[in-house]
Amino acid sequence: MHTMLKPVSPSSLKIFRTVVQWRDFRRTLPPDQPLAFVPTMGALHEGHGSLVKLAGEIAGGGGHVCTSIFVNPTQFGPGEDFARYPRPFATDVELLTQWGAQSLFAPEPEEMYPRSGPAVTVDPGPYGAVLEGASRPGHFRGVCTVVAKLLHIIAPTHLLLGQKDFQQQFILKKMMADLNMPVQVITAPTLREADGLAMSSRNRYLSANERPRAAAIYAALSQAATGIRSGSRSAEAVAWQLQKTITAAGLTVDYAAAYDPTTLEPYVQEITNPCVLLAAARLGSTRLIDNVIV
Ligand code: AMP
Repeated sequence: MHTMLKPVSPSSLKIFRTVVQWRDFRRTLPPDQPLAFVPTMGALHEGHGSLVKLAGEIAGGGGHVCTSIFVNPTQFGPGEDFARYPRPFATDVELLTQWGAQSLFAPEPEEMYPRSGPAVTVDPGPYGAVLEGASRPGHFRGVCTVVAKLLHIIAPTHLLLGQKDFQQQFILKKMMADLNMPVQVITAPTLREADGLAMSSRNRYLSANERPRAAAIYAALSQAATGIRSGSRSAEAVAWQLQKTITAAGLTVDYAAAYDPTTLEPYVQEITNPCVLLAAARLGSTRLIDNVIV
């Protein structure tokens, strides 16, 4: 993929390593123009690219597109993949330039946190304890804390998030509303590989043998969505079918069911509107998540 990239001038993306450097630059931007911000953990793919390009449309001619790459240690649990999370920085810089990002904030952990970790953090509330939060205790506290920090540092007008991480964008929108953060959030659709697998930095962990089986998650979700749209309203039957289909491909299901997207509560009897199908499953050592809004 990367051999397809056109050569770019290294000066077209401004890179900032410290908060002071970014804030000095931020002051030079026109205050009445949009500043669209796309936070990432790097190991970029076309899904990130779609967010950066959408940020470009929001910023328009007079605004600015800022991105960040920060593998945030506080959102990883003890046994998780923080140390092995891919960090292909030079390729990421090339991709961001290609997609039209104008600046990149890429701090080291020491720039963001004291060595002992932050004493004050953002409590994600009850929505942070279910689904991903049940499997990954502390994850959403880490996410909320780092996004709150990034928003204070970058001071954007617009924040772009992916629907791929449905619960994450749900909680971050609650955080921003509850804490009166003056930023407009835009949730962008999930970009997928040809076989339907949601693009993810973690897909590169999948072995050649695992990779085709990973498509079972989206296949099951879209099949269930079609069933619901044509009248299959039993929550139990939908969850059972989802779990059966994903398990049959050799994945271990963490959760797969129909939820109310306004409360994150699972449907237990009849599925009514609105509905989102959420799934998480493990394939070897890789944990994959996906969702489909019905
Ligand atoms: P990450 O680098 O995984 O933290 O993701 C950074 C942002 O990109 C988050 O808002 C994600 O929801 C979003 N994102 C990740 N994968 C995709 C995808 N396949 N399509 C669209 N957005 C995505």
